[in-house]
Amino acid sequence: MTCVRFAPSPTGNIHIGNARTAFFNFLFAKKNGGSFVLRFDDTDLERSREEYAQGIDTDLRWMGIAPDLIVRQSQRFALYDAAAQKLKGMGRLYPCYETADELDRRRKRQIARGAPPVYDRAALQLTDDDRAALEVQGRKAHWRFKLEERTMHWKDLVRGESRIEAGSLSDPVLIREDGTYLYTLPSVVDDIDLKITHVIRGEDHVTNTAVQIQLFEVLAGAAPIFGHHNLLTTASGEGLSKRSGALSIASLREAGIEPLAIAALATLTGSSDAVHPVASLEELGAAFDLSHVSRGAARFDEAELTTLSARTLHALPFATIAPRLTEAGVTGAKAESFWLAVRGNLEAFIDVRLWWHVVDQVVDPIIEDADFCNAALALLPQEPLDLQTWSHWTSAIKEQTGRKGKTLFHPLRLALTGRESGPELAQLLPLIGRPKAAARLSGRSS
Ligand code: GLU
Repeated sequence: MTCVRFAPSPTGNIHIGNARTAFFNFLFAKKNGGSFVLRFDDTDLERSREEYAQGIDTDLRWMGIAPDLIVRQSQRFALYDAAAQKLKGMGRLYPCYETADELDRRRKRQIARGAPPVYDRAALQLTDDDRAALEVQGRKAHWRFKLEERTMHWKDLVRGESRIEAGSLSDPVLIREDGTYLYTLPSVVDDIDLKITHVIRGEDHVTNTAVQIQLFEVLAGAAPIFGHHNLLTTASGEGLSKRSGALSIASLREAGIEPLAIAALATLTGSSDAVHPVASLEELGAAFDLSHVSRGAARFDEAELTTLSARTLHALPFATIAPRLTEAGVTGAKAESFWLAVRGNLEAFIDVRLWWHVVDQVVDPIIEDADFCNAALALLPQEPLDLQTWSHWTSAIKEQTGRKGKTLFHPLRLALTGRESGPELAQLLPLIGRPKAAARLSGRSS
């Protein structure tokens, strides 16, 4: 069965670029009837924080991504220790004692000679006595994975045939000298243990893939399928960072951006499908295909989010929005016609409160011309008011007063809503109802 994972480290708030990876995985799982694992890469105990993990969980759920399983690497060290033991036993994980300074100097010398700055495997030449002597000096080993020098091939779901010469890479450090794990090994061990079938992640991990395929082969015999997508950047081409907090999902939520707008923008930017508003993740999933993701840049304009968010709201069906309307206090028999009346006018969902106030609460009317409003009141039809009432009523007023266009409609809007502009009055009038309309036309707050 298809199983994918989204594996953020809880060291900050996730941003829209991280959401791109999350949506790619989630939509891929849905499309293939598979499951979606949320894995917190929290092996760095110092930088990882529980509040960030909780924030990520909240952000994902708010965007409609409910994980089938959540795991934390910090609770799985026994598995990593066992894998490290196995690698040591096979001679594929070897101790090194160079300090960061020594490695740096060595790299500089290599570069000066015009040689690639690849780790020279000097530690493999150490004898047991050498190692013992270094330990006596107080040095502690960090551990490197011995790469096989061969070409690693894989068929990337996004980038197609891919290859990396493992011989051109340094043997990666898997365990630091304080015994903590870097990302590489725990990720592979978990992908094996959780039976991950597809690893879909940003293209900043392409180089890791050569190393990880070798680890998969040693530890499990075979590697999963990989897909590396282009990273979202701002319009000026800058990358996004968890640290800056810019374009974090939490800040977009606070700014009133619709989650489905984030989903559409995060998923469709930088692909052959134009970014467009969607009414559900199912709809987005139907449009989504990893093979449509381009290899070029995935730039997006922050301003686009606001317009896409408004356009998303304008088309959202009542059934989708009903729970949020109830939460906002929009309840009762007229909730659905209210939504259909106002949605096309909303920039942000929060504005529903304002229009619900206009149709359901007390409004102070603005009376520009009392005589005109009284004449209109006299012509206001009896209940029930419906979607046709407005045109019949205003035709009658036009006939009697000779007014037309703005001079006819604008004073009625000011009196009925207390506002200069807003949704169509033909739709608002039946929602306001005759008693309130009549009171407002005669200048009373109602
Ligand atoms: N924790 C890694 C990251 O956030 C996960 C990479 C991966 O998906 O393998 O970049």
